[in-house]
Amino acid sequence: MPVLARMIPSPVATIVRHGALDSILDTLADHRVSTSGRVAAVVSGGSGGALRARVGSLLPEADWFTIHDGTLDSAVRLSGELKSGHYDAVLALGGGKVIDAAKYAAGRLGLPTVACATNLAHDGICSPVSILDDIGGRSSFGVSCPIAVIVDLDIIQEAPRRFVSAGIGDLLSNLSAVADWELSHAETGEELDGLATAMARSAGQSILRHSGTVQSSDFTALLAEALVISGISMNIAGSTRPSSGACHEISHALDTLYPARRAQHGEQVGLGAAFASYLRGEKELAGDLAQVLGRHGLPTKASDIGFTGDEFAVAAHYAPNTRPGRYTILEHIDLGKDDLRGAYEDYLKHIDV
Ligand SMILES: [Zn+2]
Repeated sequence: MPVLARMIPSPVATIVRHGALDSILDTLADHRVSTSGRVAAVVSGGSGGALRARVGSLLPEADWFTIHDGTLDSAVRLSGELKSGHYDAVLALGGGKVIDAAKYAAGRLGLPTVACATNLAHDGICSPVSILDDIGGRSSFGVSCPIAVIVDLDIIQEAPRRFVSAGIGDLLSNLSAVADWELSHAETGEELDGLATAMARSAGQSILRHSGTVQSSDFTALLAEALVISGISMNIAGSTRPSSGACHEISHALDTLYPARRAQHGEQVGLGAAFASYLRGEKELAGDLAQVLGRHGLPTKASDIGFTGDEFAVAAHYAPNTRPGRYTILEHIDLGKDDLRGAYEDYLKHIDV
């Protein structure tokens, strides 16, 4: 019999609601992630203590581990610490650093990860990628997608606003990333996955067209769900292609060239997406992106995150080096620094209209 459908790696449970963590043991048991509750719970060194105090009694059989930074070294160390415990799963309770470190550490041991996101800063909550700091900057590592994603909206409401709205930038950047992928398909023949682009674009459009803000539960629930869908689009593609194009190359370049001045990932890629869309000639999209980013208090200009126009142009010029082999508008137009500087000035005039 021919294979008539494909299997898509995706979480067995996606729970986005108020009080979602209150029934975490039942969730783990119902979905056969862990019937014993014997899990390794990983939290950050900062706000992780308060989180453990809050949910510790709900997980009586758990062992607790702390991750102090988002480095590859720390993730490897965590993996070593988890080795002797015979756990059913690794619970990552925290933001991006905790989830990325836990996904990487669990993957080395063949254990599933349950992502319990405490903020919505980027689409790593359900992606097959861990972003970790390594020598020379941030690196992406392929890992398994989380087996379950739990977003407790009560906890999200308490997160610093900036760590929730940054996810908006990461999702809006899908619209530029998908356009870059389609450009590459047309110019280089790179294979395009229609389902991956449909999901990534839908996730971005749902945020672009929504009039709400992170103050409302409806909007944060949609944001969380869109981040999950964006992560699954990467699982379908088998790469970050549906959500990472020139927008992300520019962000990676800012990280590499100016490591002491990094803004949040979602803030940088949102700005990168608006500029990349302008470079592609999609002026209406560039204007829409800038308008929506601005409405959510996200940067639309390099100066909003402490970079000069010259520094931003240097980063845009360097950007293709960060993802060799990825074809985007930057590789396509192949502009020099001065031309990119000029294009950035034109972009600024355009978004101010
Ligand atoms: Zn991203």
